[in-house]
Amino acid sequence: MSKFIATSAIRGAHGVVKDAEELLAQTIAEKGENTKIGFPNTAYWLPVIYGLTGHKVETLKDLKWPLEYARSLLPPVPKEKLWLPYLGETLDSGTATLFAEEAIEGLRFIRSEQPEKRNGFVCNGPIDDVQMRSWGIQMVDGRMPGFAAIVGAAKSNEVAVKIVRELQSKGLLVFLSGNVKGRSIIDQLLESGIELGYATFTVPFGTDTISAIYALGYATRAAFSFGGFTPGNARDVLLYNKFRCFAFALALGQVDDLKYATAAGAITYGFPVIADTLIPNVLPVGITRYEHVVSLPFDDIAGKDDLERAERLVQRCIEIRGVKVKVKKINIPVAYGPAFEGEVVRKANLSHEFGGKGGMCFELLQMKDMDEVQDGKIEVVGPDVDTLPLGNHPLAITVSVAGRKMQKDFEPVLERQIHHFVNGAEGIQHMGQRDITWIRFNKDSVAKGFRIKNLGDILHAKLQDDFGAIVDKVQVTLYTEKGKVAELLAKAREIYSERNVRAAGLTDESVDTYYSCTLCQSFAPTHVCVINPERVGLCGAYNWLDCRASFEINPRGPNQPVPKGAQVDTNKGEWDNVNKFVFDNTQMTHKRMTLYSLMDAPMTTCGCCECVMVLIPEANGVMIVSRDDYSMTPCGMTFTSLMGMVGGGQQTPGMMGHGKYYITSKKFIPAEGGLRRVVWMSSNLKEELTEDLKAVCERLGEPDLLDKIADEKVATTVEELMPFLETKGHPALTMPPLL
Ligand code: SF4
Ligand code: ZN
Repeated sequence: MSKFIATSAIRGAHGVVKDAEELLAQTIAEKGENTKIGFPNTAYWLPVIYGLTGHKVETLKDLKWPLEYARSLLPPVPKEKLWLPYLGETLDSGTATLFAEEAIEGLRFIRSEQPEKRNGFVCNGPIDDVQMRSWGIQMVDGRMPGFAAIVGAAKSNEVAVKIVRELQSKGLLVFLSGNVKGRSIIDQLLESGIELGYATFTVPFGTDTISAIYALGYATRAAFSFGGFTPGNARDVLLYNKFRCFAFALALGQVDDLKYATAAGAITYGFPVIADTLIPNVLPVGITRYEHVVSLPFDDIAGKDDLERAERLVQRCIEIRGVKVKVKKINIPVAYGPAFEGEVVRKANLSHEFGGKGGMCFELLQMKDMDEVQDGKIEVVGPDVDTLPLGNHPLAITVSVAGRKMQKDFEPVLERQIHHFVNGAEGIQHMGQRDITWIRFNKDSVAKGFRIKNLGDILHAKLQDDFGAIVDKVQVTLYTEKGKVAELLAKAREIYSERNVRAAGLTDESVDTYYSCTLCQSFAPTHVCVINPERVGLCGAYNWLDCRASFEINPRGPNQPVPKGAQVDTNKGEWDNVNKFVFDNTQMTHKRMTLYSLMDAPMTTCGCCECVMVLIPEANGVMIVSRDDYSMTPCGMTFTSLMGMVGGGQQTPGMMGHGKYYITSKKFIPAEGGLRRVVWMSSNLKEELTEDLKAVCERLGEPDLLDKIADEKVATTVEELMPFLETKGHPALTMPPLL
């Protein structure tokens, strides 16, 4: 252990613990110790303190103990530069620092000093739970390998932009905080016109070092949500982060005592710290997987200029952390990577668009015989954007694929990827699918040389990269002439409706094999989705056909066939082989799993479900709250707090996560009476599914059932719910008792 780092970290920890104590005393004096404290939109209180100790900080009074504990961890500040053969005291200082920093941010929220406002820009502050979970899914499916927490400021604005772009193009989430002599990387990026926020994977926490604590709060909550840990198990949280969360801290510019102390805190999470200045290395491994602290002085990095040095710096960070990056380079004139998927092309910056209101654009992917497809051939029939005037134009995207393992069933699965593939290009936005496709190019990207033809380059490269196991050849033809597009569109519509008929004909009874999805086990080890034709995975992203295709593509992957076996219970949807599969694949945690029941051995729930349904005993029915509904619900909990209870691979009779389209399925909890049991549903679900739900009501012979289901606009408590149900004469009130 370097003497220098130990001394600085201990000194830094003393300073910040003292600051926290003083701020707490002052705030209690001003507001009283019963004042509520917490971060917005999270169900995890102050998450680092809660995660590591199990202590819930709800009021100022509750903050006293964590700070006393932090103080007790502090070793005396060494008079001489301390030599320690082990990291113990430095790590204790690190933990004390994290508690103090989180306390300070919590207090600042009460004092209206968070999130930070800077020259008219409002920093993000902590990440909310909804965002945390949605990134969790991307971490599960490998699109996002991890995160980089940058603290400080880069050598120049160009270097700052380059570092962030490099990290984004590797799919890494970028957290921004800190400053060097008052100048922050956040300033540098804003001055360079970079869009910061959730959508671009760049989260500006704040411009001081203390706000870096939000990165660890995020990591702690991810461990809970996806690892299924109980709070207070510091060791589990740390091990989870060390092995499952590919994160590192990157200190840009001079490192002071507080940064050392914070770095020591990051190391306790297993996150290595890389500095672009000369500081002592701490190379032996132990807490982190690889080196603890690595110094890579920026000007010493080989490279012909600063931009090349920035690229190398990011490359080294990735090697040190051992991040697995899947993204390959695509030959187009703009940047490409998952960080660009959330970008919006606004009107002011719009160059050309295809489809959307009054427009005509569609995409169709079809399999052909081997000799009908010429791999890599990309053709634009009609003018490209260099000759088309600005504005809306027709576009047909037709993709032909061939491969020995390709099957007709995979066509829609591959076609649905076009959305995600095209969106990865910087300045290009893709919405919808099939004949409701809507694509927008922004001016900057067209100025950089982006053309319609490049859509073909992207599709060819990505289909080959991601689906090389089934696709051998990919050819793309893009049409931009109105008459031709209209003619092809009519043919495409025939194909879409053939596919619809086929999918609708798929019932649970018509197949003898279901599929599993264990993608989420890297986060929730005892969770498994069993996916039948009439029920999607709870994240909504996988249906039976998708899983079947995915199994064919990758036979050792997360989607395995589950032959149903003998039926144990028709009504509850229980099969002996499904039970066996679940038992064998949940670390022998769950002995049974029914597919049609909420009350008896329901499916397990992980952090990415679209909806949660919960029993409301008073109403003899169930409520369904969607992820996008932030309001209170009649069960006394919000979606977020419910997730804290059921997520993580547990099986909880009376509570279950599910996909939103499951509600419209014939196999929607038939054991409990199906949609007739639903007494409350988030209004956004009602709106989004109106047409489908109406059809279900007709099918059930209760055409006005939908009006009898309450939502957050009429009831957020059981007391409000009951009179509503009684007035409407909701069927659940007279159905057989659920309990
Ligand atoms: Fe996770 Fe289930 Fe979705 Fe698979 S289907 S990604 S296991 S939620
Ligand atoms: Zn999940």
